[in-house]
Amino acid sequence: MNVFRTFALFCIALLVSQARASSEALSEEEEDTEENNSIRERERLKAEADAEQRREYPEMYGDAEQGDMIIPKEELEELKRLAKVGGHGKYRTSIFNSAYFSYGGTYGYGWIYYGLGRIPYYVTPDFKQRTAAEGNGSHTPYEIFMDAIAYIKNEVACVDFFPFEGATTPYYVLVDYGASCQAEIGCRMKSGQKLDLGPYCTFKRGTVLHEIMHVLGFYHEHTRQDRDSEVTVHLENVETSPNDRRSNFDVVSTDFVDHSPVYDCGSVMHYTHNAYSTDKFSLDTITGKTTACRNVMGQRVDFSPIDKATLAAKYGPPCPA
Ligand SMILES: [Zn+2]
Repeated sequence: MNVFRTFALFCIALLVSQARASSEALSEEEEDTEENNSIRERERLKAEADAEQRREYPEMYGDAEQGDMIIPKEELEELKRLAKVGGHGKYRTSIFNSAYFSYGGTYGYGWIYYGLGRIPYYVTPDFKQRTAAEGNGSHTPYEIFMDAIAYIKNEVACVDFFPFEGATTPYYVLVDYGASCQAEIGCRMKSGQKLDLGPYCTFKRGTVLHEIMHVLGFYHEHTRQDRDSEVTVHLENVETSPNDRRSNFDVVSTDFVDHSPVYDCGSVMHYTHNAYSTDKFSLDTITGKTTACRNVMGQRVDFSPIDKATLAAKYGPPCPA
């Protein structure tokens, strides 16, 4: 009897222990699933934020310098070097500092050749034929570009884009659809210097204005030498693979490039808060030091009041004769 009872108790203990083990295993499995789900959800949100940034800021994802600035690499490197050591270099792209710059046989001017702020443009037949679906859904890229230059003329009286007129306008801006959004910086004294407004680039007028600001000689606001007074850059959160984007945050010599007189978080030339972040859903790469700065950073709606004032200070009014 005792042997039977002992055996029965042993069996019961075994069953209980197996049941407990099985229950623990089950709960571990549930935890694993929850954890996996949470990882999957996080990856989904990160991918969504990444896709959103590529859609909202197409100018960041071209092959040019900092995504959309067509500028000889050595020229940009020189401007970065000057930011560190100061002094005069080979380049004078700023129309404030000088009417012209020269390097390696290439001569360039601020937009003064046809009168300060007068800029001839030629729109390719391909750009004109693009559909509203390739613009913002209701207007074609061509209509949006024309609206943008009319807006600029209205807001900044002395910046005037006028149509290419053949031999009398040897240096002009060639507006094309292209593969991305990109522009040559300032006047390059070229026949057909590039202004490409490709996929998503005309979805928002602010993106078109951003590219036109490059044509007018402007750089990205967050690369100003005095940026640390208004924002904190978190290089540790910037992508290093598959492309190392950290050089997009290098400062350039403010003495030689065009920026507004004061740092402007709301400039149409400012990067967004999570630009090139490794985790665009939750990690910022640029943090504004004030709420006001954070609220406007990366806007692509219109020129900011300071953008307009800066353009007016450089190009007029009063408009040059
Ligand atoms: Zn840009």
